[in-house]
Amino acid sequence: MKKIIILLALATTLFSACKNPENQPVNDDADFDFVIDRFADIEIMRYRVDDWDSLSLQQKELVYYLSQAACCGRDILFDQNCEANLLVKSTIDNIFQSYNGDKNNEDWMNFVVYAKRFWFSNGIHHHYANDKFFPEISREYFISLLDNSNQNEFELDDYQSFEEFKNDIVDIVFNPQRYPNKICQNTDVDLVKNSAVNFYSGVSEKEVESYYQQLKSNFPLADPERAISYGLNSKLIKNADGQVVEDVYKADGLYGKAIKQIIYWLEKAAAVAENPAQKAHIEKLMEFYTNGDLKTWDDYNILWVQDTISQVDYVNGFIEVYNDPLGQKGAWEGLVNYKDFKNNKRTEIISENAQWFEDHSPIEDQFKKKTVKGVIAKVITVAQLGGDSYPAPPIGINLPNANWIRKDYGSKSVTIENLMYAYDQARQSNGVGAEFYYSDEEAELIQKYGYVSDNLQVDMHECLGHGSGQMLPGVSDAALKNYHSVIEETRADLFSLYYIADPQMVKLGLLPDNDAYKACYYKYILNGLMLQLNRIELGNEITEAHMRNRAIIARWCLENGQADHVVELMKRDDKTFVKINDYEKLRQLFGKLLSEIQTIKSTGNYAQAKQMVEKYGIKIDADLHREVKDRYALLDIAPYGGFVNPTFDVKEKDGKIVDIQLVYPNSFVDQMLEYDQKYNFLSK
Ligand code: ZN
Repeated sequence: MKKIIILLALATTLFSACKNPENQPVNDDADFDFVIDRFADIEIMRYRVDDWDSLSLQQKELVYYLSQAACCGRDILFDQNCEANLLVKSTIDNIFQSYNGDKNNEDWMNFVVYAKRFWFSNGIHHHYANDKFFPEISREYFISLLDNSNQNEFELDDYQSFEEFKNDIVDIVFNPQRYPNKICQNTDVDLVKNSAVNFYSGVSEKEVESYYQQLKSNFPLADPERAISYGLNSKLIKNADGQVVEDVYKADGLYGKAIKQIIYWLEKAAAVAENPAQKAHIEKLMEFYTNGDLKTWDDYNILWVQDTISQVDYVNGFIEVYNDPLGQKGAWEGLVNYKDFKNNKRTEIISENAQWFEDHSPIEDQFKKKTVKGVIAKVITVAQLGGDSYPAPPIGINLPNANWIRKDYGSKSVTIENLMYAYDQARQSNGVGAEFYYSDEEAELIQKYGYVSDNLQVDMHECLGHGSGQMLPGVSDAALKNYHSVIEETRADLFSLYYIADPQMVKLGLLPDNDAYKACYYKYILNGLMLQLNRIELGNEITEAHMRNRAIIARWCLENGQADHVVELMKRDDKTFVKINDYEKLRQLFGKLLSEIQTIKSTGNYAQAKQMVEKYGIKIDADLHREVKDRYALLDIAPYGGFVNPTFDVKEKDGKIVDIQLVYPNSFVDQMLEYDQKYNFLSK
């Protein structure tokens, strides 16, 4: 629910990063290649883990064990994304291991591209657009790969014969009618039956809804807001007797083999924890993985969110619900990080002033939090990405997701500095600015303030945006159903956009002067109106929640600022440009929309949420769409980015770990094949 991702083609910092030394790792970049691979619409980078040697040996061990735990659920995510994914994964893997035909031809290269796309997306559907993608090879060639690989190593258990397996796998990979969309967005049809995600089996949307309504009414609470996150860690299925039942993810339940491995590494981590509080939440997480009880999950989150002293931290569990069309099943995710002391000052200042921001927010008083509790913000260095965070990670995270825990115990909010930095390095001089910025004035603004204002906007979105505001009594997030994510992201973005222009930012030392926010405003509007369209196929609509949210904000401001010419779309040499004439008035528009969006969320107004999203967030002007894609095509930039992880070189002496060093791999394929072998716990 609460994460920000970044896209290479967006937020284009055309020139070198901001000169502010606080925002840059100190190490020399000269010898480090950030970009290591490029295929389809994807660029693969490495991220650098700075100041690793400032950690103690015990902390390094802790990071290492948590990192193993962050990898062990790899197969879970593949299976959650689609029931066919593990079969496709093992098939691709076996072809790589044993295919004995010619590999020096275009067909093989195209197969490799398909494999890379599959790994990158953790399945057969595009990681962002949700639609199924296909290899650019013939069925016949694919069959020849199967025929000329070690046939005994394919997953044949569910089939009568190799022929039957072959027919099925070819159909899974090539048939556009089979599993066409990961997540169905069309509310006119059954969202559950029309989504390929594997959170439900044999049940309809109505049956799912009535099952959980029943479950909730079986356990009435004095305070319904404190209900557990029903359905978060289970698959809902129909059993042999036709009853709807939950198959729970736990050590002796669904995905048990992988979960036991996660527990194994967590136990090792707990033994080298930095302090008792950290040990306690790691052990609580083990307990949750063992019993699958969502009450334990809440208890764990309460312990975890209150641990603000540990330097090393992690995310591990069934967390974000974006992948479920009904927004309740958690995708498995893992991530390990430690505090970046150099960059923490920025978010400390934001946190210390949280109440001021809440009090001055342009929303109705009844929706403001009287006391903003524990907005813990920190800048982190990530050392491992896993599950839903890998290879395409968030650059900011705000957890836990349960609103009542956030309200009573606060939330942890982080900006992942080393990933942002890698993106920024990869983006240098990609030509987008020269092509799309209205004039030198905007280019100079962005050259001067791009990196610093980007970072601050992410911090504000995470530290304050999601944590701000409150619901009317009795209203829950579920009220907005499929529009919840879009409205929530719109709200967090607007909060950060509104405040980044506040003179308070300069007073607090967060921005160098009163022009700096303009870089962020220009990039945001340009992106929402034009640039992000590049990532959508011609003829399609906007489907992804964050993209919808940006479109809503940019288009609403264009329309509502029309009379005052606040934002304009200008034509020059048959090209469209975004021009912002009045930055101060644009800020007022952000404030006005923030108030409207907050009211929709706080009152759970589904009809208005629907209207807002459908009016501004979905449709695309066909001519503008084509123009953006044509102009981008000449630049040849990958719209999506992801990362390989560093590997751990563990040095042992007499059975004891004496040091751990990091190695930065330079092959995406090698890392994927290695992970496929090492963390392959759920294949039969
Ligand atoms: Zn967010």
